Amino acid sequence: MDFISNLNNILGYDHVLTGNNMQPFLQDWRKRYQGNAIAVVLPNTSTKIAKIVELCIQNNISIVPQGGNTSLCGGSIPDTSGNSIIVSTMYLNKIRNIDTKNNSITVEAGCILRSVQDIANASDRLFPLSLGSEGSCTIGGNLATNAGGTQVIRYGNMRNLTLGIEVVTAQGKILDGLRNLHKDNSGYDLRNLYIGSEGTLGIFTAATLKLYSRTPFTYTAMIALNSIEDSIEFFFRVRSKFSYMINAFELMNSNCIQFVRLVFPQMPLPFDKQIIQKSQWFILIELSNHEKEDYLKNLFEKLLEDSIEKNLIITAIISSNKSQSKSFWNLRDSIPLAESELGKSIKHDIAIPISGIANFISKTNSIIQNNFPYVKHIIFGHVGDGNLHYNVAKAPEQKEEELLNQQKKIYRIVHDNVNDFGVPFVRNMA
Ligand SMILES: Cc1cc2nc3c(=O)[nH]c(=O)nc-3n(C[C@H](O)[C@H](O)[C@H](O)COP(=O)(O)OP(=O)(O)OC[C@H]3O[C@@H](n4cnc5c(N)ncnc54)[C@H](O)[C@@H]3O)c2cc1C
Repeated sequence: MDFISNLNNILGYDHVLTGNNMQPFLQDWRKRYQGNAIAVVLPNTSTKIAKIVELCIQNNISIVPQGGNTSLCGGSIPDTSGNSIIVSTMYLNKIRNIDTKNNSITVEAGCILRSVQDIANASDRLFPLSLGSEGSCTIGGNLATNAGGTQVIRYGNMRNLTLGIEVVTAQGKILDGLRNLHKDNSGYDLRNLYIGSEGTLGIFTAATLKLYSRTPFTYTAMIALNSIEDSIEFFFRVRSKFSYMINAFELMNSNCIQFVRLVFPQMPLPFDKQIIQKSQWFILIELSNHEKEDYLKNLFEKLLEDSIEKNLIITAIISSNKSQSKSFWNLRDSIPLAESELGKSIKHDIAIPISGIANFISKTNSIIQNNFPYVKHIIFGHVGDGNLHYNVAKAPEQKEEELLNQQKKIYRIVHDNVNDFGVPFVRNMA
């Protein structure tokens, strides 16, 4: 029996796609990568995935797992050889268990992140992972990429949020590690080997995740600043005052706001035109706690007033209601879409020690600006964990090819600087 007939036998005809039906799975979110595949399979159980892996081993066919296909560097797309299958987890989407006393939830890998957040909410709990792509990305993809997002500063990334995993290994065996223990010292930590392995070691089929109590009092603020140095200094002030109460501290340079304005001219902006034009950097902060409402608000207002007085920040606005706070987040979350609407850009998803962020940005910006004076820096990210999106886009009047022709050189500059700022101990030991 041929390979496709065997797939049909395991999954049924409806769950094996070939030909044109595969197209939506063969291109990435940014439309930068187009792959090829023998078939796209849509299994709905771990046992079927194990059988598919065994079949692929026998036929020497490679496998690309795919969740929501929202990754930004082509990891969910096969190469062009046409010797792969895509295993999509879209039908592997059951909630297996929620235990509010243990603060844990067990979900299948194809569950959409937002639906897990919603189910936790409905049980008066919080699943804190939060990404711009949360309406489409899956728990399996979040595990495979060790996703971070906006709340890492308080709750950590996917590794910190995971108690147990179920994986189909590259040998086609089901590894049942669905533990719900908050402390688990019983053996080697295979969980952390698989998390972040980008589908190279196995296919996640389910996970037990941590839940948290919801914090009732939340404040969101937008801050306008003059420089990256001030922005990082301001972060240190906020951190020393509010520590675990900081949910998010999101940095954006002024080009981010300009790109959003060009693509979404109707979107409300937090500040008037003058402030927007004058400010080089913006910060979105979210704080929350369980204590009395006034306590946090008063402290926060005092810190903002003091920072304005000391000329550390230009101005700030605390949201007065939920819809205003949502509009701040909309602005932040629209940056990737605005960027991609304005043409292909050269992206870097990098991590720098927080203490090195300001120097890294100043140095890298000036090298790039000297060599490629026409480009626009689009810099945004999560200061709390040092994860920055350091992107280089074309100016609106520039041709796309002109920028893309410089891709290798721009990668080199950014990667070399990340290395200089990011791994000083490794470098010194060599
Ligand atoms: C607007 C926007 C904002 C984003 N913001 C963030 C952010 O703040 N932080 C962040 O970390 N990422 C962010 N991302 C990137 C992306 O959304 C995340 O990496 C997400 O975790 C990917 O999930 P996915 O289900 O879409 O995975 P996919 O894109 O389908 O796959 C990503 C990788 O995981 C592998 N994979 C997928 N499912 C499985 C599985 N079940 N088992 C094994 N391997 C699997 C794939 O082979 C691929 O290598 C953003 C993306 C967009 C479009």
